[in-house]
Amino acid sequence: MSETPLDFEKGAHEALGSATLQQALGKFQTGYPLLRARAMQSLPDFEKVRTKAARIKDFSLKNLDKLTDQYREKVEANGGTVHICETAADARKTVVEICRQAEAKKITKSKSMVTEELALNDALEAAGMEVLETDLGEYIIQLAGERPSHIVGPALHKTKEEVAQLFKAHHKTRRKRETGEQLVREAREVLREKYFASEVGITGANFLIAETGTAVIVTNEGNADLCRILPNTHIVVTSMEKVIPTLDDLSVFLRLLARSASGQEMTSYTTLVSGPRGPGESEGPSSFHVVIVDGGRSKLLGTDQQALLRCIKCGACMNVCPVYMSVGGHTYGWVYPGPIGAVLNPVLNGFGTMYHNYQASTFCGACEEVCPVKIPLTKIMRDWRTRAFQERIPGLGARLALWLWAAIAANPFLYNLAAGAGIPILRALAGKKGVLKSLPLAKGWMKGRVLDAPEGGRFVRGRKR
Ligand code: SF4
Repeated sequence: MSETPLDFEKGAHEALGSATLQQALGKFQTGYPLLRARAMQSLPDFEKVRTKAARIKDFSLKNLDKLTDQYREKVEANGGTVHICETAADARKTVVEICRQAEAKKITKSKSMVTEELALNDALEAAGMEVLETDLGEYIIQLAGERPSHIVGPALHKTKEEVAQLFKAHHKTRRKRETGEQLVREAREVLREKYFASEVGITGANFLIAETGTAVIVTNEGNADLCRILPNTHIVVTSMEKVIPTLDDLSVFLRLLARSASGQEMTSYTTLVSGPRGPGESEGPSSFHVVIVDGGRSKLLGTDQQALLRCIKCGACMNVCPVYMSVGGHTYGWVYPGPIGAVLNPVLNGFGTMYHNYQASTFCGACEEVCPVKIPLTKIMRDWRTRAFQERIPGLGARLALWLWAAIAANPFLYNLAAGAGIPILRALAGKKGVLKSLPLAKGWMKGRVLDAPEGGRFVRGRKR
């Protein structure tokens, strides 16, 4: 993506000071856990199912080349074309070329985070094509000229009142529409006619089934089906780790995805597409393409962090993350927010530029508890911190402080010596009130924090210093 990542610290301060964002996040934070808990009641063997899902993903990643070849052969036998693209630039070029060949002027699109990663809309618009997002959340942020702040609910940061204002400004409607239902109806009316005018429809895919050459598109709004069926050309843009072996395997993931993403047992639409319109069929595109993007993911194959590629982009980890729920998605500065963004963005967009992403964690582990494919997110965040330290990404001061801390913490004699000297100093700094509001060398870290002075006792011997 061409966009320069934001300054995380600056973004976090702005987010914490934004009353509307805090209102939107607060509302979601109270609603989602209840919905998820209710949906999980009908999946009492969650632990067993997610262990199975993790195994299927690990098997798929181990056999990715073979399965991708099998997927491609099946799609080609069905009359479609598969394009494997190593870089984002290759993928952009490929999609633009397909659209040119289809003589596209208007393109309808359903939600796809991979296309966000590619900055595909910018590339298509630069080639003179008009792109319309049709997922309600994506449509809202397209009107607002913003980026998604959540991988499942892209406009999660917007309040209903802000959406009403946006629609009023763009749709020029005279009637006052303010309820959620009215706003959805208004968007539907505006979007409906656009589907019929588009030459190309672009969708993502949640899974690619090697056994049958099927792309699986899971949505709630039905817009992906309209994007896929009405234009003459359908392009699926997705990433390489979406390939799984069989339709039976799909059933495992479908039991987990909606429950984890939106607290539903199933989403409203699960579409299985295996190629263009067949002979004798009256509906569907005559031209079908699947663009599979690597974009840097293959660097993870065979490494200790390969489990990252199990991700099914359900968004559950961010829904329970105290950092995400405080600062929102835009603060992460790139496509993927929350714990998954914290570990994936550095791989796809550079360790240096994404340094603050993997620092943004309380290590509470809530993300791992809910992750339906058991990704060890906190372990990978620690791995990235170690790597950043080894690559000298943090400044000299931070590196020295970390080095000093590691040396002291690993040596009982030094640790006791430091604690012996440090605790009385901290108690003295805390004064009579026994409260620390600032610390030398840690002024930034103490901003917004108030700590009690250390008690001075020792867990081991129970002796006061
Ligand atoms: S890391 Fe796990 S919880 Fe987070 S989006 Fe991916 S699959 Fe969902």
